[in-house]
Amino acid sequence: MWNLYGESLPSDATTRVEIAPVVDIFAADEDGPLSWQDRALCAQTDPEAFFPEKGGSTREAKKVCQSCDVKSECLDYALAHDERFGIWGGLSERERRKLKRRAV
Ligand code: SF4
Repeated sequence: MWNLYGESLPSDATTRVEIAPVVDIFAADEDGPLSWQDRALCAQTDPEAFFPEKGGSTREAKKVCQSCDVKSECLDYALAHDERFGIWGGLSERERRKLKRRAV
C-alpha cells in the first residue's frame, strides 16, 4: 500500500486521508466587506454598458447607477482598489481620477 506521497506503508496500515477545509467561493458574502455586491443593480443589466469601448457612451450605465442602493459602497471600493476601467458608483475612470486628485 502507498500513501498520497508515493511512500510505502506497512501492509496492516489503514488508509487515512485528510482533506483540507474547503471554502465555498460561491457562498453569499452576507456580512463581509463585499456583501454590497449582492445588491449591485448592474448585475441585472448588460455588463458591457459598464465597460464601454474608448469613446463609447457611459450614459446608460450611469443611469443604472443613479438607482443603485449600493452606489456609495461601489464608489468607495473602486477608489480604494484603484479600479482603472469601467463605471463604478456612477463615475467613469476620468471622473474617479478627478475626485481622487481633489481629495489629496
Ligand atoms: S453603483 Fe453602478 S456600478 Fe456600482 S454596483 Fe451599482 S449599478 Fe453597479
